[in-house]
Amino acid sequence: TQKIAKAEKEKRPYWSFEYFPPKTHQGLLNLYDRLERMYRLGPEFIDVTWGAGGSTSELTLEICATAQTVYGLETCMHLTCTCMPREKVDDALRECKENGIQNILALRGDPPHGSDTWEACDGGFTHAVDLVRYIRQQYGDYFCIGVAGYPEGHTECESKELDMQYLKEKVEAGADYIVTQLFYDTDLFLNWVQECRRMGIQCPILPGIMPIQNFNGFKRMTTLSQTAVPQAIYDALEPIKDDDQAIKDYGIQLAIEMCKKIQAAGLTGFHFYTMNLERSVRLILEGLQFVAPVEVMRPLPWNPSKSRKRE
Ligand code: FAD
Repeated sequence: TQKIAKAEKEKRPYWSFEYFPPKTHQGLLNLYDRLERMYRLGPEFIDVTWGAGGSTSELTLEICATAQTVYGLETCMHLTCTCMPREKVDDALRECKENGIQNILALRGDPPHGSDTWEACDGGFTHAVDLVRYIRQQYGDYFCIGVAGYPEGHTECESKELDMQYLKEKVEAGADYIVTQLFYDTDLFLNWVQECRRMGIQCPILPGIMPIQNFNGFKRMTTLSQTAVPQAIYDALEPIKDDDQAIKDYGIQLAIEMCKKIQAAGLTGFHFYTMNLERSVRLILEGLQFVAPVEVMRPLPWNPSKSRKRE
């Protein structure tokens, strides 16, 4: 967004929050409450995922439109190529424009549920780069476009070098910034950023930070995305794996350390995979001293004399 460019120029820290469309109506109401509360944490923008194969397209659009127009949040909509013939892409982009949404994360997408391999649909795009080109061609500079980057290489790509070459093509086709896949090895991420710079990829890179919320979820997620986890993290998690609160607290401290190291290396933007949760992200931002601590509301000590006076 223009806002990213401005924040980068000012060299000040900034952050974005990613959410996914909930499955139930109650979940949706909870998400709206959360968006409203997390507005106060000052995200530069928020973004909403596009369910595998377009399965959440209407809800994603609805949440994005509400976030942008009702809550006044700078909103970025994820858009994928999976099961999306050109007309559907056109409809989604038109609806974004009608609602004042100016940010798109352009993705190829995961295969639809029940399918292991990715295939382009009739009249659709094959790679994210095609979607980036198409948006630029149709809309000029109206949209700020983000793309995905993979510090460990994309799972389908035969080499990290080739994957980075494709990433460069996405930027050259018109992407303004990169958001990365989640990672837990900060050195690996920083080396990858250096490599990107050496390859001539100069746009802002936002590290994708996913605070650990519980042990099983963490294991499932890192296995699914084939993410390298340093042994020290496993060693710290193993003894506390059945204590959800201790895991969350560790996840917060770990994310703070990761962000500090990344900031020390000169990066200023941070993307948080919130998992639609508020507390960890808030405490991480407080721990980094990016936001002031929220006062905890407590009942005042009971004072009967004062209470009688009021009567
Ligand atoms: P691409 O950039 O097209 O890359 C896909 C594969 O093709 C890679 O192996 C790449 O190396 C290769 N490749 C790229 N360009 C070329 C080319 N020109 N020629 C040959 N090979 C090429 N998925 C969803 O379904 N919904 C979401 O909302 C969503 N949000 C995400 C957000 C972030 C920040 C990230 C990191 C991922 C997200 N994903 C989402 C997952 C993403 O869709 C998958 O990782 C998908 O498999 C790849 O998408 P991509 O945009 O990186 O694809």
